[in-house]
This record gives sequence, C-alpha cells and structure tokens, in this order.
Amino acid sequence: MSTVYLVIPCYNEEEVLPVTVRELTRKLQSLIDQGLADEQSRFLLVDDGSRDHTWDLIAGYCRENRLCSGLKLAHNRGHQHALLAGLMAARTACDCAISLDADLQDDIEVLDEFVEKFHEGCDVVYGVRNRRDTDSVFKRCTARGFYKVMKALGVDVVYDHADYRLMSRRALEALSEYREVNLFLRGIVPLIGYRSDYVYYDRRERFAGESKYPLKKMVSFALDGITSFSVKPLKLISNLGILISAFSILGLLYALISYFFGFTVPGWTAIVCSIWLLGGIQLLCIGVVGGYIGKIYSEVKARPRFRVEELLNTPAEKPEDK
Ligand code: UDP
Ligand code: MG
Repeated sequence: MSTVYLVIPCYNEEEVLPVTVRELTRKLQSLIDQGLADEQSRFLLVDDGSRDHTWDLIAGYCRENRLCSGLKLAHNRGHQHALLAGLMAARTACDCAISLDADLQDDIEVLDEFVEKFHEGCDVVYGVRNRRDTDSVFKRCTARGFYKVMKALGVDVVYDHADYRLMSRRALEALSEYREVNLFLRGIVPLIGYRSDYVYYDRRERFAGESKYPLKKMVSFALDGITSFSVKPLKLISNLGILISAFSILGLLYALISYFFGFTVPGWTAIVCSIWLLGGIQLLCIGVVGGYIGKIYSEVKARPRFRVEELLNTPAEKPEDK
C-alpha cells in the first residue's frame, strides 16, 4: 500500500473550501477503504498568501480532520509556486502526490485511476480533459492556439492537460532538481521523462467563487511558458534578419536600376537602400546577440542534463572504507 498525498493550492478560496474539504475527505477515505492508499495519506491544502479567511478555515480543518494537512505561504506567489511548495513538502512523506485545484473542476472520481496507474508502475500520470465544452469558445480557441504554438516552438507539452497529475516520489525528487524561477510545471514534468500514462476526465464549471485566472494572467502565463522553454523566438529574429537582408539586395538592384533609368526623385535611392539594408543588418545582428543570450539562458537554468531511469546488472555499490 502506498501513501497518497493530494496537493491543493488555495488562494482566496473560503467560499469553496467547505465543500472541497468534505468531498476530498470522502474520496480519500474511499481510497483508503479500497486499499489503494494507506492510513498516512493526506490532502494538503496550501494557502497561497490568501487575503480572506482561507488559512483560518484550513487551520480549523487540520484540527478536526485527521486526513487534512495545511501549509501556509507567507506571500501570494501564484498557482505554480504554491503547487510546487506543496509538492516539495509532500515529497518526503508520500509515495505519490496528486495535484488538483481547490474548486474541484477536475473530477475527483478518477483519482482511483491515477493511483491504479501508479501501482502499475507509472511515475507520472497526466489528467487529460475529454472535452472542452464547459469552456467559452474564446477560451477553447486560445487554449488550442497555445498548444499549437508550444508544439511549433518545440516544447513538449501534453495536449489539454493542466495541472491535474500524479507524480511518484521519484518524479518529485527529479522535479526538485529543476531550479528555475519562472515556473511552468506543465513544461518541466515531461522533461523528467520517467514512465507516464494518461487518465481522461471531464472538467466541470467552478461551483463557487471566481476564477483567479483572468485573461491578463492567462496571457502572461502562456508567454511565460513559451519564453521559459524555447529560444526559438530568438532564432526567428535571426531568420527575419537574413530574409530582410536578402530582400534588400533585390530592393537595392531595383533602386539602382530605377536610378539609372531616371525614374526617381533625387535622394530616393540612397534613402530606400539604407533603410532596407541597415534594417536587415540590424535584425541579423540582434539575432546573433540573441543566439548568445539563448545559450546563457540554458546555462543559467542549469537543468539536470540526464536522468538514469534504471540500471541493470551493475555490481552493488561498494561501501565506503572506514
Ligand atoms: N491559485 C493559487 N494562487 C494564485 C491563483 C490561483 O494558489 O495566485 C489556485 C486557486 O486557488 C485554484 C487554482 O490555483 O486552486 C486554480 O485557479 P482557478 O480555479 O482560479 O483557475 P482556472 O481554473 O479558472 O484556470
Ligand atoms: Mg478553476
């Protein structure tokens, strides 16, 4: 049997917490009763520096509910950091941790499937949405566009997967080695690379309270995702520079021909030629600088360069000589 932690970031969630805690208690107890989780399993509510009574509520639940744990962050650090804080706190206490939102938009009835896949040997299980019909047309289109752009830029993200996922203790250990400040967990977790699988579920509407992800935050989150994982935009600048430089040579020819045939007003040729050529050269130079910045960017991230998944048939490690 394994110790399962459910990690739930909460920011100003006093309206949803009573129902969430009731539902999570019921679900976790049923996992325990079915033998999928052991008695040490908990759900961990992470208060992300809420300004309402979220922490008072959590503290109260922790006193009366043996399955409930709480963690309070000193500031509001955002969903991704709150989640990471919770996962890192759970890491040493659990065999696997599942992250989910406080509003229970992600169907908790599929938690059994997550744990079963873990018992089958998966280190990461991604929750993937079946349909997107509870979303507005706008959100659906922007989300699809986002995944397409990420794919085009070479970032490995799981389509229609948000942050509903299970990670084994070993995967959490691996996650702790990614020390980046601009956190985009959906991009990092696939980089870990251990055996993974998917669980499909339907996402509901938020039952109370309001979304903490308005459009502005969503856009900045998406941009963060792109710029934290891809240096391709920098390469695009170089390519654009090359393209415009090449184009400007054609323009140069055209301008010179026009000049010699006397189709131009005085001064036009010189201005047009310098605008195009200089513009192209400038972009190209920015691109070259960008190339170096891209290298600095990956070095500074200092991500682990490889991860050993299994070692077969190696001699046992020799104990240190005393
Ligand atoms: N959240 C958080 N810190 C924040 C914003 C959100 O911990 O600064 C939590 C929030 O309490 C919820 C989860 O992140 O549990 C997802 O937020 P929300 O449901 O508002 O986002 P949506 O589902 O609308 O994308
Ligand atoms: Mg939500």
